[in-house]
Amino acid sequence: MFKQNEVEIVTIGDELLLGQTVDTNAVTLARELGAIGISIVRRATVADTADAITDAVRQALARTGTVITTGGLGPTADDLTRPTLAALFGRALVRDESIVAALEALWASRGRGGALPASNLQQAMVPEGAEIVPNPEGTAPGLRLTDGEGRSVTMLPGVPRELRAMLQQSLVPWFAARAGGTVLRTRAVRTTSIAESALAERLGASKRSVAGLPLAYLPGMEGVDLRVTARDLPPDEAAAMLDEAERLIRDAVGVHAYATDRVTMPMVVLERCAARGETIAVAESCTGGLLGARLTEVPGSSRVLLGGSIAYHNDVKVRDLGVSPDDLAAHGAVSEVVALQMARGVRARTGASIGIAITGIAGPDGGTPDKPVGTVWIGIDVHGDARAHRAVYIGDRQEIRFRASQAALDLVRRRLLEREPVGD
Ligand code: ATP
Ligand code: MG
Repeated sequence: MFKQNEVEIVTIGDELLLGQTVDTNAVTLARELGAIGISIVRRATVADTADAITDAVRQALARTGTVITTGGLGPTADDLTRPTLAALFGRALVRDESIVAALEALWASRGRGGALPASNLQQAMVPEGAEIVPNPEGTAPGLRLTDGEGRSVTMLPGVPRELRAMLQQSLVPWFAARAGGTVLRTRAVRTTSIAESALAERLGASKRSVAGLPLAYLPGMEGVDLRVTARDLPPDEAAAMLDEAERLIRDAVGVHAYATDRVTMPMVVLERCAARGETIAVAESCTGGLLGARLTEVPGSSRVLLGGSIAYHNDVKVRDLGVSPDDLAAHGAVSEVVALQMARGVRARTGASIGIAITGIAGPDGGTPDKPVGTVWIGIDVHGDARAHRAVYIGDRQEIRFRASQAALDLVRRRLLEREPVGD
């Protein structure tokens, strides 16, 4: 017997094998189906040939019983999924009049004039007995074939936007109905400025579960996400257990926890600043605008971010931020005094309530025994109270720059926490 909550994915397309297109469909399917308790147990990517498609789908059906394919449903000659899988299931292709009508309506609504091209009518040829999975975003509907033993293949189009829409509208409800009401839910508590080993110590070094839920440590450039997973439970029970696990994790890691799930550090900082009426200005040397870019990525950031300066060259630090040339000469650009002057300078010159400065050595060259590659000074001026922090980050240039931007935002977050009444 096959497990109802296990699926294999076959993504179809030469462009995926050639590396011209990143296989985001497999990622989308894994994420969205994972969220409702469906596990992707294996995935394959195959070329646009009948043999490759047949082999991959036949094996996946034999192993797991439920298969989703993406790609090759379009009207062109390289789109082989429909006839190939019809043949695998021993079904003839028959014309589906409801699809013809939908294609004609879509053609007319796009004002192209004339009759629907014959190649488009290919898309109305469906394997006998196939279920149609509506495609609200495009011309090619999805199709599902099921054999006498309950094995099924669901064919979805390759276009990521269409796939996402169909997943939400049709696939998620289909799987949920099959699963009989249990779900898989995860929750991640996001932490930063604390090492994985230190987190493990706080949580109990041997701990592999919290509140009975398995715990995973997911380190990345933003910090370490602590993720718990509730499986095969009714939605209410899963939610209650996740809440309890989150509470225990937050108690253990304290101020290092900055957000949950997909909330990012810029979102958190902007939100807190907006709530308190704070405004931010940035003075960036080694990050070259990365901090500003991360903040402006968030819609609505204009309520908080005023602007700032990419002060890469020392002359610009002097001219735009009022950094002292003597201090630059005496201490170097990567120093406590310069970080403080940059933060104060950008705050004063923009009228922001918070000035953030980053100056560091991102490498790969430029390190010294005193200031190795990865050395970063961050200056934070909150309402005239300026403080500087030094850190040495590991990683390549990109990582050092990103970690510096993350740490700078985290320092602002923590300064604001200090200013909040206890219990807020
Ligand atoms: P169409 O009707 O557009 O022909 P289709 O179902 O035939 O749809 P494909 O021709 O395989 O799909 O791909 C359409 C587009 O979607 C292409 O731009 C392709 O690069 C992209 N695409 C296909 N498969 C994937 C995938 N697995 N991940 C991300 N993008 C994909
Ligand atoms: Mg195509």
